[in-house]
Amino acid sequence: MNIETLLAQTGCVDDVGTGALVAPIQLSTTYHRERDGSYPRGYVYTRHNNPTRSLLEETLAQIEGGVACCTFSSGMAAAAALFQAFSPGDHILLSDDVYHGVRHLAEEQFGAWGLEWTRVDMTDLSRVEEHLQAHTRLVWVETPSNPLLKIVDIEQICALVRGRDIAVVVDGTWTTPLLQKPLALGADFVLHSVTKYLAGHSDVLGGAVIASVDTPVFERVRSIQQTLGAVLDPFSAWLTMRGMRSLATRLRTQTKSARRIAAYLDERRAIEQVYYPGLKDHPGHAVASCQMEDYGAMLSFTVRGGQPNAVELAARTRVIKRATSLGGTESLIEHRASIEPPGFDTPDSLLRLSVGLEHVDDLLTDLDQAIEAISVH
Ligand SMILES: *Cc1c(COP(=O)(O)O)cnc(C)c1O
Repeated sequence: MNIETLLAQTGCVDDVGTGALVAPIQLSTTYHRERDGSYPRGYVYTRHNNPTRSLLEETLAQIEGGVACCTFSSGMAAAAALFQAFSPGDHILLSDDVYHGVRHLAEEQFGAWGLEWTRVDMTDLSRVEEHLQAHTRLVWVETPSNPLLKIVDIEQICALVRGRDIAVVVDGTWTTPLLQKPLALGADFVLHSVTKYLAGHSDVLGGAVIASVDTPVFERVRSIQQTLGAVLDPFSAWLTMRGMRSLATRLRTQTKSARRIAAYLDERRAIEQVYYPGLKDHPGHAVASCQMEDYGAMLSFTVRGGQPNAVELAARTRVIKRATSLGGTESLIEHRASIEPPGFDTPDSLLRLSVGLEHVDDLLTDLDQAIEAISVH
């Protein structure tokens, strides 16, 4: 079946007892035991498993083409479980332009715990090869990256480490399986902040790890989920499924608008550079055209005149909201350097835009009046 069909029917069941078509939210934390002490229905205690969460996990595994999924209370909790599934002394390779929270988690928290890490520009495969070590166990890919939208060739990275005891994880938050299928390209894991496009309405915090095959590493992820307990709560799992039902239509519309906005910005003199893989002169355009179904609804751009003009432009948008995060129905603009910790490479004239579901003409008009306002300075 096509992914759109699976998404449209996310959480559709025939509820035993009521015949309800939409799965109920199961809030019970505990479940009846039989006289002999057994649990024939499989549910024991909600930290271990919960029917609402299980349904979401099965659906996510299915749409990513994986065998299993663990969901967490945030994308960061999902990332932490994956790092922790390795051992102190193991080495991980991170994309240089990885989401700042993941970088911080790897370098600060798990660095102190004993993980070794190297950040490398993965758009250059020879650099990846150069930095692989005998004790490298994980390659962390994010493509398009955040916020510079660098494109990494997933298939080539996977081919490079094949046959070695190295797992590849792709952070698929920005693409969802609708635009990119990392497991089909050879990755072992996909990570999602379900907070973003999957839930899609800026009202759920959640994360997921999906495995292509059930490996000992994934068994540890499952064990960490159940014992450390940063699980996705049933209500958030239910809201995520509700959001996923409209994902295909949302993301396609958002992507179409993003393309138009990228083309518009590319023509404006007040804009220095537009970072969007759908633009023909983007260095990752060819790879993105092969491995992505479309170029997504996220873009960044630098503003002439540096940080003051960038901040001023963001201050003048009216339809587009100023906030962090992405993937909701409302468009968000953000001056990225001021939310990231010091020491990151993000240009201070860079704005990141998450294109929402508003009419694209309203978004273009909004950007236009903001750009006009800074141009007269
Ligand atoms: C937001 C985000 C995360 C972290 O997820 P949370 O749900 O905020 O914990 C990880 N990776 C990417 C690419 C993100 O955008």
